[in-house]
Amino acid sequence: MKYLLFLLFIAGCKNNSGSRQQMQEAKTATRIIYIQPLGVVRSQYINTVKASVEQFYGFKCEIRKAIPLTKDILANSKKRYEASKILRKFNSKENIFLLMEKDIAWKDTAHKSDEYGIIGLGNRPGTVCVVSTHRLKRNASEQKVMERLEKTALHEIGHNLGLSHCDKTPKCMMNDEKGTIQTTDNELVYLCPACRKNIGI
Ligand SMILES: [Zn+2]
Ligand SMILES: [Zn+2]
Repeated sequence: MKYLLFLLFIAGCKNNSGSRQQMQEAKTATRIIYIQPLGVVRSQYINTVKASVEQFYGFKCEIRKAIPLTKDILANSKKRYEASKILRKFNSKENIFLLMEKDIAWKDTAHKSDEYGIIGLGNRPGTVCVVSTHRLKRNASEQKVMERLEKTALHEIGHNLGLSHCDKTPKCMMNDEKGTIQTTDNELVYLCPACRKNIGI
């Protein structure tokens, strides 16, 4: 199966749409999602992801024991972790939601650009995504962080289910216009009818 990477924020996305069959496979496979903390992750973040995913998509989440962060997934700067390396390392037949507090980066090798920080990355369609809370905490109350985390988690799982970015309405969680945290703050915990139809919910 061909995996496409989708970034949340800043990066442009490849918008090749996955075939119906791929989307169907992703949908039926995503029954149990294993939440895998990478490094130290506060339990309230883990619980927020679990509750959000179970409530919104109706999937079952199981929380796994944290795995320490290792050097092999560091970005070139060694200051952050590279999201695409993380997805490659933890790619699995199981559905894995990787959650971490350390910063993650994207490196656009096609354009040889420097790395830059992102908040999430997910294969589309696929089984693995990663979200970092690092950038969600900027100028935000703890409640705001939780709201952003909920929408980001549901967005990345949306990619795993086969959804690409959506420009139907700024309120749809799959919207990624301008790629800023403001975009997330303008969204509701909501998928527009077109996105819902695409994944059959
Ligand atoms: Zn995205
Ligand atoms: Zn939408």
